[in-house]
Amino acid sequence: MTVATPLTTFTPSSNVAELRASATIAVSVRADELRAAGREILDLGAGQPDFDTPAFIRQAAATAIENGATRYTATAGILPLRAAIAARASALTGGRWSYTPTQVVVSAGSKQALFNACFTLFGPGDEVLVPVPGWTSYVEIVRLARATAVGVTGDMSADLKMDPDRLLAAATPHTRGIIVNSPTNPTGAVYSEEELRDILRLAADRGWWVLSDEIYRHIAYDRPALSSLQVAEDPSRLIVLDGVAKSYAMTGWRIGWSLAPEAVSRAMSALQSHVTHNAASVSQHATLAAVEREDESSAEIARMVAEFRTRRDAALEILRDVPGLHVIQPEGAFYLYMHVRPFTGDVEDPGTEVARRLLDEQGVAVVPGIAFGTPDWIRISYSSPLPQVVEGVRRVAALLGALRAAA
Ligand code: PLP
Repeated sequence: MTVATPLTTFTPSSNVAELRASATIAVSVRADELRAAGREILDLGAGQPDFDTPAFIRQAAATAIENGATRYTATAGILPLRAAIAARASALTGGRWSYTPTQVVVSAGSKQALFNACFTLFGPGDEVLVPVPGWTSYVEIVRLARATAVGVTGDMSADLKMDPDRLLAAATPHTRGIIVNSPTNPTGAVYSEEELRDILRLAADRGWWVLSDEIYRHIAYDRPALSSLQVAEDPSRLIVLDGVAKSYAMTGWRIGWSLAPEAVSRAMSALQSHVTHNAASVSQHATLAAVEREDESSAEIARMVAEFRTRRDAALEILRDVPGLHVIQPEGAFYLYMHVRPFTGDVEDPGTEVARRLLDEQGVAVVPGIAFGTPDWIRISYSSPLPQVVEGVRRVAALLGALRAAA
């Protein structure tokens, strides 16, 4: 019997020729490899809460399995879940407008919801304004839609947040949309009501689609992070993307959703019907419990946010002692973004250099800022247990201190 020759190279289609694998996932894969080779690695790379999914949500999933919720569902998701999401969204608007279940599409994570939105709304020749630094998948997903992502970076004094002036400077007659993300990955910055309103107003004036990624909205420390639903004056081109992965500790359940004008939702649903058909049925039932049983969810989220806050404060205290280090003070999410260029001298990609040395010399995995479009920075995630965060951040501080001493 002959053995098939393993294929080592091939010519990818133009659909994916320029696609880069997720850099954040790549860091975790590398950390796992090193662990498998016997090294002890502190993983401050992954954007994944270490908590277990709350027990009442797990129980709802078990009950759903026992009750036979194991078949295909409607493409856009089970009706009670869409109704619960629509009701919650309507409440957020403060009664200014209301959503119906037909405007909700439940997907395999908010990542798929974002893909659905970009693929449905943008195409060749279109430009989409994306935050830089911003989540690594924005650029790639816009590119998969064959549109062009145009990065917009804010000032360091504004925690790198976008603002209308910078958006206008980046806009062209081809601009069709904008992605907004608050709280922001990778900086943890939160847009104030005024900042968000100014951006939404500009977008509405220009007729741009707004894709508001609110996956970290419940993880906010000093003041509530606002939804675009609370701030927008005109919802006609607003798409809200949300899900349960981060705030409910449900990354592996893969449930996210979009809220959009009905015609857009219909088109996204048609797209999804040919890609995944529906998000996992059992996960939808678990999510229904998470969304419907708001009191229990709020208590669980408050407990997790309090723990994130403890970790954030412990990490910031250690980093405060590193002379010359600028760290964005995170008001939400579970990331710390720090400017490492002053520590490396004149290298092309300071974040990658520091991340490499941290992994090799200190056994700490972090994500280089180039993954988010800003090579002078690194991102640390404090979604691991406190002792791990404290030890990892101490090692980061030690390396930066040594680099400074050597400079
Ligand atoms: N949006 C942002 C800003 C993220 O950081 C992530 C995950 O890292 C996602 C969306 C995707 O989340 P989900 O697990 O719901 O697909």
